[in-house]
Amino acid sequence: MQPPPSPASAPGNEPLIQKAKQHLLQNYKQQPIALVRGQGTRVWDADGKAYLDCIGGIAVCAMGHCHPEVVAAAKAQLDTLWHVSNVFYSQPQIDLSEQLTEWAGLPRAFFCNSGAEANEALIKLTRKVMKDRGTPERFEILSFEKGFHGRTLATVTATGQPKYHAGFEPLPQGFRHLPYGDVEVVRRAIGPSTAAILVEPIQGEGGVRMAPPGFLQGLRALCDEKGLLLLVDEVQTGMGRTGQPFGFMNHGIRPDAISLAKALGNGLPIGAMLCREELAVSLAPGTHGSTFGGNLVSAAAANVVLRLLRQPGFLADVQAKGEHFLAGARALQASLPEGRIKAVRGLGLLLGVELDREVAPVIAKLREAGLLVNAAGETTLRFAPPLIISQKELDEALGILQRVLSAL
Ligand SMILES: *Cc1c(COP(=O)(O)O)cnc(C)c1O
Repeated sequence: MQPPPSPASAPGNEPLIQKAKQHLLQNYKQQPIALVRGQGTRVWDADGKAYLDCIGGIAVCAMGHCHPEVVAAAKAQLDTLWHVSNVFYSQPQIDLSEQLTEWAGLPRAFFCNSGAEANEALIKLTRKVMKDRGTPERFEILSFEKGFHGRTLATVTATGQPKYHAGFEPLPQGFRHLPYGDVEVVRRAIGPSTAAILVEPIQGEGGVRMAPPGFLQGLRALCDEKGLLLLVDEVQTGMGRTGQPFGFMNHGIRPDAISLAKALGNGLPIGAMLCREELAVSLAPGTHGSTFGGNLVSAAAANVVLRLLRQPGFLADVQAKGEHFLAGARALQASLPEGRIKAVRGLGLLLGVELDREVAPVIAKLREAGLLVNAAGETTLRFAPPLIISQKELDEALGILQRVLSAL
């Protein structure tokens, strides 16, 4: 593919990085390239080098970069009306609520701007529902070790990784973490203050760790038995990522409420909380809100993302491509020195390759060879490419992985 022209005036990687180091808060471990262009599964850096993008803005750019139909919808909306706030109704948001609730089988939608905010909405919904039920003593949310739910104070507290808590104490009350995957441990942990269980169908940030068979079903049964809410964090696993519309659908359950963000707007910021009708009444007028939530441009893009995801055969293709990658990665595992690849995991196009070492230097070598991936935990490479990636491009990624891992 021909790289799109780069603006003649654009500085290269080095001057941009120098300036970034002077002025940006240094809170990210950034890879040393500045990306300036994207088309489909390819991105170009400020020096003109092309990459196969197998991280897609961290499971965000499901339709790839600059998908013509998504771009057209956002541009048309930019020329019409950008923002009105939720003081008024707006059609893109209404259309999106109709499409999303139908697809998820959860009839009410609240829009926000990010995954953390969508999870905040789940937390606030839980507390308010328990007050309205006359059980205000129930406010505790159980979540899981190695989970990830966001960076606000409440969602980082729900995040079961002590490294994200350190230095930010005192943390809000009402959160407890349990090992992921064992229903009996969860049953024993439920106490008189427990209100809800918050779970990811696959722990993406935590290393692409999959819920074992029966785990989500067991949690559903437990929540029904004890009168708890089952909250599913679909920020990463939603929007077709696993080859089903939402990750919970791989487990044949219906949650009480879910959170969405990442791929919903294909890169324009938008998040959502969807819930059951009986719960929705608790967030009555004045109880919750967001200025930018569901803004018209993001919602217009999201409507196209949904329409494309819902085309016949699209998700079956995501499943098939995921299986193709898993088979290729397992063949590579068998061909390399024993134990170099410790495990290959994933579903659909959320894929993890666990190595016998820290992945940061490996990610640098892959990048130099033209492949972008990122780390999920210390030792797992995460592949979350655009869902439109082709089988041939997945083979290209596996080829680069093979060259880099055999040379270690
Ligand atoms: C990325 C992520 C979040 C946080 O989303 P932000 O948009 O960064 O706030 C929450 N939960 C899961 C499972 C995620 O992958």
